[in-house]
Amino acid sequence: MKTGLRRLAILGGTPAFAEPLHVGRPNIGNRQAFIRRVEDMLDRRWFTNNGPYVQEFERRIAEMVGVKHCIAMCNATIGLEIATRAAGLRGEVIVPSFTFIATAHALQWQEITPVFCDVAPGSHHIDPAQVERMITPRTTGIIGVHVWGVPCDIEALTEIAQRRGLHLMFDAAHAFGCSYRGRMIGSFGEAEIFSFHATKFLNSFEGGAVCTNDDQLAERMRFMRNFGFAGVDDVDFIGTNGKMTEVCAAMGLTLLESLDEIIAINRRNYLAYRRVLAPLEGIQLYTYDESERCNYQYVIVEVDETKTGISRDALVKVLQAENVLARRYFYPGAHQMEPYRSYFPHARLLLPETERLVQRVMSLPTGTAVSVQDIEKIGAIIEAAIAQRAEILEVLGCSVD
Ligand SMILES: *Cc1c(COP(=O)(O)O)cnc(C)c1O
Repeated sequence: MKTGLRRLAILGGTPAFAEPLHVGRPNIGNRQAFIRRVEDMLDRRWFTNNGPYVQEFERRIAEMVGVKHCIAMCNATIGLEIATRAAGLRGEVIVPSFTFIATAHALQWQEITPVFCDVAPGSHHIDPAQVERMITPRTTGIIGVHVWGVPCDIEALTEIAQRRGLHLMFDAAHAFGCSYRGRMIGSFGEAEIFSFHATKFLNSFEGGAVCTNDDQLAERMRFMRNFGFAGVDDVDFIGTNGKMTEVCAAMGLTLLESLDEIIAINRRNYLAYRRVLAPLEGIQLYTYDESERCNYQYVIVEVDETKTGISRDALVKVLQAENVLARRYFYPGAHQMEPYRSYFPHARLLLPETERLVQRVMSLPTGTAVSVQDIEKIGAIIEAAIAQRAEILEVLGCSVD
């Protein structure tokens, strides 16, 4: 295939892929090992309520992360709600706007106000200098987000939290298996929250976990996860149902055994993207620090329209027409979603870097379902799109939204 000559699907050609390539296709791991665990679970008739798989899963994660307590949850959103509630956060909590909406919703669900903070210039992570400016007398905490599995500025946020007497937690939904200065993510701040949703690096269908070194906080979270039961017939405070099921833990345990292979494939794909995208001016791959542990779960590209002559939105349409289901992230920013858009109509004025970033970022398919050959084709599509931008913009009527 000669790239410049490729007839793009958006211009009437046939799609490059017969089957869609998705972002976030789940990893499966060893099917037989999973099915054996399910058989054992059925024999035991112990399906939930802190069963043996959940306990084993928690032990394995705590060990890997190097933390005293891991409390498995039904998902990370409930994990965030329980962790913030158990630690006593209220009033206002500072979060980045460049994150998945669950970071904000977990707070708002409890009538805690998420205060959106900008990303640092040139970064995808919460800007500690801006955090400092957003602290008010009502602020009780900060939640940093390790976007794409890359740690936010933990050192600076820890310093601010200590100096200003604030709680500090991390939404580590993307960051299982990643390190910060050689130490595994999961043991920083008061607590870190992982997601094991099907699209995440380690998946348990749905699932999550809160990791902490704080004994009291861990105990409170265990009670809260189970309706507040401190013992049989003994409820001490308000709780919810945040329990992970045995079948979910069985999937999590099975995938823990395949993590090295999954990382190897993710890394192979990341390096292939780096190679095919390197010659394309204005297409910038988000790079990982190879001196840290890293799960390479996300292939993130920033499109600089001033160099490509074609916008991120137009490129996403070109790719989708080829059955490459690229996604905009985290578009349009949490502050532009309801209810926050109505609550804080002027928030965007404080978020210039986020506003710029959400117009430029897209996520490309990777994972075990994507081959190097697929990635070469995707590179050729992007190259052809840049070369044929004039025709594409005409077809799209210039106004892409
Ligand atoms: C996926 C995700 C969540 C929510 O995780 P669930 O397990 O689906 O509830 C929270 N924060 C971020 C940054 C995420 O990407």
